[in-house]
Amino acid sequence: MIILKTKEEIEKMRIVNKMVGEILNILKNEVKPGITTEHLDKLAVEEAKKRHSRCAFKGYGGFPKSLCTSVNEEVVHGVPSKKKVLKKGDIVSLDFGLIYEGWYGDSAITVAVGEIDSEKKKLMDVTRKALYLGIEQARPGNYLYDISDAIQTYVERNGFSVVRDYVGHGIGRYLHEDPPVPNYVPSKTDRGPLLKVGMTIAIEPMINSGTWRVRVKKDKWTVVAADGKPSAHFEHTIAITESDPIILSEVN
Ligand code: MG
Ligand code: MG
Repeated sequence: MIILKTKEEIEKMRIVNKMVGEILNILKNEVKPGITTEHLDKLAVEEAKKRHSRCAFKGYGGFPKSLCTSVNEEVVHGVPSKKKVLKKGDIVSLDFGLIYEGWYGDSAITVAVGEIDSEKKKLMDVTRKALYLGIEQARPGNYLYDISDAIQTYVERNGFSVVRDYVGHGIGRYLHEDPPVPNYVPSKTDRGPLLKVGMTIAIEPMINSGTWRVRVKKDKWTVVAADGKPSAHFEHTIAITESDPIILSEVN
């Protein structure tokens, strides 16, 4: 069941999502060769505390940390570790969620560690642009898979592939609500649910430079590209309104 939110509820979601965006900005500035992913996790926890908010991923389904850090071929759900040291030329995706006054925020960015090669740069640029092209379709009267189609078409035209096994989601008083938001069109005949004012969704393309196929590592969390090639991930929580969608987790 898709839960529509009132304007007041969307304002509450804006508060928590803005915090997520601010913290991701802080983490982004901290990324450099030689730091560990554990350090980023600790910093995220400290910043959440300062804002009197709770980390949404800690313990979610048993996830051991507060931040997901996925390096290079890791797609999503990478577990921060003091053994994982970032090197020049890596890309790291940072996925973070908070709860504040009962409302969830969720957003992700992929960050370059020092200088990166042109293929990784293109992968990051295409993934970020695909997210915004998807958001552009989030309007009443459109259908959910219009978002998926915009993302998939742009990604595949650029020679990359869309992960199928993990998708975006509705969000609000729960981290994961209906509807699932795929980044590819799952049906040739169905356009998905009609988009309505008051829907709040997390759109999150996970884009691979090789195959879209993924597997889960032995740690039972880290999802990696099956061919070991780099992957990028960007996510925003947005609200559908009568006019343009509001990007709740965007901070300027
Ligand atoms: Mg997320
Ligand atoms: Mg999400």
